Amino acid sequence: MNGNFRVGNLFGIPFFLNISWFIVLALVTLNFGTGLASQFPYLGNSALILGLVAGLLMFASVLLHELGHSFAAIQRGINVNSITLFLFGGLASLDDEAKSPSGAFWIAVAGPLVSLALFIGLFLVAASGIVTGPAAAIAGLLAYINLILATFNMIPGLPLDGGNVLRAIVWKVTGNRFKGTLWASRVGQFIGWTAIIFGILAVLGLSNIGSFWTLLIGWFLLQNAGRSAQSATLQEALSGLTAADAVVKESPVVDANVTLREFADMAILTKEKSQWQRFLVKDEDDNLLGSIRLNVLQAVPSTEWSNEIVRNFISPISEENKVESDQSLLNVIGHLEKQGIQAIAVIRDNGKLVGLLEKSNIINLLQKRDKAQMQSA
Ligand SMILES: [Zn+2]
Repeated sequence: MNGNFRVGNLFGIPFFLNISWFIVLALVTLNFGTGLASQFPYLGNSALILGLVAGLLMFASVLLHELGHSFAAIQRGINVNSITLFLFGGLASLDDEAKSPSGAFWIAVAGPLVSLALFIGLFLVAASGIVTGPAAAIAGLLAYINLILATFNMIPGLPLDGGNVLRAIVWKVTGNRFKGTLWASRVGQFIGWTAIIFGILAVLGLSNIGSFWTLLIGWFLLQNAGRSAQSATLQEALSGLTAADAVVKESPVVDANVTLREFADMAILTKEKSQWQRFLVKDEDDNLLGSIRLNVLQAVPSTEWSNEIVRNFISPISEENKVESDQSLLNVIGHLEKQGIQAIAVIRDNGKLVGLLEKSNIINLLQKRDKAQMQSA
């Protein structure tokens, strides 16, 4: 997200605030402050300070909700990358998805369960008479906010928690994770559109339900639900494919024992190979030895090309730049993205080179597959 800055760590999880958070805090402070001032006129200017306290406690409630998701994820061995507070509340960003529907279910409900527990606790505090006056009013307000946090988030469309619950249920019933995501995304898109329509009607003064805020939230839901639908479709298309499927047909590979002259002829004169700047080097048994850059040729006088062999110019390939051929393509894409690399050497588990996998080639592969499916249909 743009405009995020790090505040510190919470239980080892990097904690960020988005700039938009301050706008909301200011609005909430003003809103709560004026409410308290009219309810307790004797407060005077300190009503605004209490409004700020209430606003901060509201964000603490959101934070506890996100920590609920985070602890449930950590318990299942999933890392939490960050927690961010922003315009529409909070976001716990997980490093990975749950491996099972039940895992996904519990991570999703953990947040609303925390909010529900806070609601019950604060409601009891407000109703019991332990605190009175403005403190009781703030406790009541926070109880109400936590009830909203628990119920609103359980609306069954992505990206809301309820959407993740629906996803887990469809996943469990159909045994297909992607179907779960697709269903929950579609419902999320429907809810997004509904909120936008109510928001527009309210802004135009044609309805009493909703506000400009509803319109904004609808837009936010629609964007995110659309994105998860897209990624589910892509993931489903990729499922069942392995790294070996995405290897480039004319991979840039050269034998360690050929001379630089032969390397130059192959690399520069062969049309399919001339686009590559770096070649994988293999020995006579197809074992991957490393790679060689084309610009090695510039460093060696061309009169020497026939006397030098490729083997002497190999640079090693690190583990991050290799992948085993039976790895799922989905994992490989995740790896490429994480490492920020465009291509990777594909080897069999005995170290034999299969070829080069390029990120851009995966898209070609999917398009070909789509075409093939259309033709067979
Ligand atoms: Zn949540």
